[in-house]
Amino acid sequence: MTYADTSAHEIADLVRSGKTSALEILESHLERVKAVDGRPGVLEPGPITAEDKEKVHAFITLTAETARARAKEIDQLVADGEDPGPLAGVPFTAKDIYTVKGVPSTAASKILSNYRAPYTATAVQRVIDAGGVLLGKVSLDEFTYGSSSESAAFKPAPRNPWDTSKVTGGSSGGSAAAVAVGAGALSLGTDTGGSIRHPASFCGTVGLKPTYGRVSRYGLIAFGSSLDCPGPLARNVTDAALLLQTMAGPDRHDNTAATVPVPNYLAELEKGVKGMRIGLSPDFFRVTYFDAETGELQERAIPEEIEAAIHSVAGYLAQQGADIVTDVPMPHTKYGIPTYFVISRVEASSNLLRFDGVKYGYRTQQSLADLREMYRHTRGEGFGEQPKLRILMGIYVSAAQFQKQYYQLALRARALMRQDFETIFDPAGDYKLDALLTPTVPSTAFPIGGVYGDTVLMQYSDQFTVTTNHAGIPGLSVPAGFDENNLPIGAQLLGPDFSEGRLLRIACAYERVTADEPWRAKRPPVVEKFG
Ligand code: GLN
Repeated sequence: MTYADTSAHEIADLVRSGKTSALEILESHLERVKAVDGRPGVLEPGPITAEDKEKVHAFITLTAETARARAKEIDQLVADGEDPGPLAGVPFTAKDIYTVKGVPSTAASKILSNYRAPYTATAVQRVIDAGGVLLGKVSLDEFTYGSSSESAAFKPAPRNPWDTSKVTGGSSGGSAAAVAVGAGALSLGTDTGGSIRHPASFCGTVGLKPTYGRVSRYGLIAFGSSLDCPGPLARNVTDAALLLQTMAGPDRHDNTAATVPVPNYLAELEKGVKGMRIGLSPDFFRVTYFDAETGELQERAIPEEIEAAIHSVAGYLAQQGADIVTDVPMPHTKYGIPTYFVISRVEASSNLLRFDGVKYGYRTQQSLADLREMYRHTRGEGFGEQPKLRILMGIYVSAAQFQKQYYQLALRARALMRQDFETIFDPAGDYKLDALLTPTVPSTAFPIGGVYGDTVLMQYSDQFTVTTNHAGIPGLSVPAGFDENNLPIGAQLLGPDFSEGRLLRIACAYERVTADEPWRAKRPPVVEKFG
């Protein structure tokens, strides 16, 4: 009997009622990690072997011993008649962009490879306080910069559990892969332009980017401070609701954390979709590229299978009593990526200034003449390609002589994207939508090495997720079947500020009505083979 496939809410029930020990549950998960994950990512991996290519490599740091100690504590609480909390004994992982006291917090970058944080991120601490058992820190694109997790400086980089020759998506690729294979029932990811929803879509898991400020950013290694959102990944909607419930809420360590009361998300799940107005927009069924040579906009249709999957979701929701509203205009969606290129790079270049080898992290080993040289060599050796590219671009587009044509223009475009959403969700407006239903990503998982190296093409994979971050609203990705190559397809639900409960409720209605579909019974081949 393994508990590695048991959902988080079931695990918590088993542990709280004393039916199963947290330690037994943890051992099941550690066995699963051993069977399917292969070696964890390291800075100097040597050659990537044929065996490496069959495994998942979600982890950078496995914290098996502290997890065992924590599981025993939980079991003691139960033995003493105390309640360890709503996540009692639930094994979970955290993307290695969250700080955890005493544990390496690397951002998958050489420059933080030796960094052990003196404090724990609020969101992680809340999960631990609710009875969660941290299994370890999982991989990501370096500093979260990417949509495939291939830019992690720690190799082997994560591989997709549904086909290990494909990417996990990113940047929370380790989180999505870990959850998909049962290496923890839950994972904490972060989403700046799509990084929770994108890998959730590629790996067939649920992923939720909350409203900006719904979850504290304290203890996140920052990327784009006006865009970053911590959020949950899970194998089902109920578990995602449970994790968000634990993570969300005000925090005295983060003044941008919202003070809006946190609703009871689990209670929301039961309410169904009858009478809800759910929109479909043609602007989310095509991708728009700027041709670098001509400067012209070019449009391309998305794969038919993805379009069909989203229409099938709409069909099920209609069957459950929702009104589907078609032809909803979202005219500024096409500016999402160019705008993100500017704003996210400006914020990244600013946030990366603190990594200079002085107080913490990697420092060059070279003997140097002065402080400036120390900075230069430390940053030159410590940062990979993506951070360097983003620093250069961020400095360029915010320079005094260019900022009007780039940064300030991007801020104006961002306001227009927010306006698109305000218009369609306005209860007194023409559309009065409760939510917008879209594909999460314009493709399924692409081959390892297939897009990597082309930063622009990689970025365009976020076309349907990124406007959510510009607008600050919540977005949820839910599994919606498979393509002909047995790769997961994700459906995305978007709603107004603080509508997480409503999005979870819609996703849950869809999950329940499709519970008996044959595709729901599929398991990742890597689990079938080694698990
Ligand atoms: N893929 C996007 C990027 O490269 C988004 C990453 C994220 O959400 N952290 O920046």
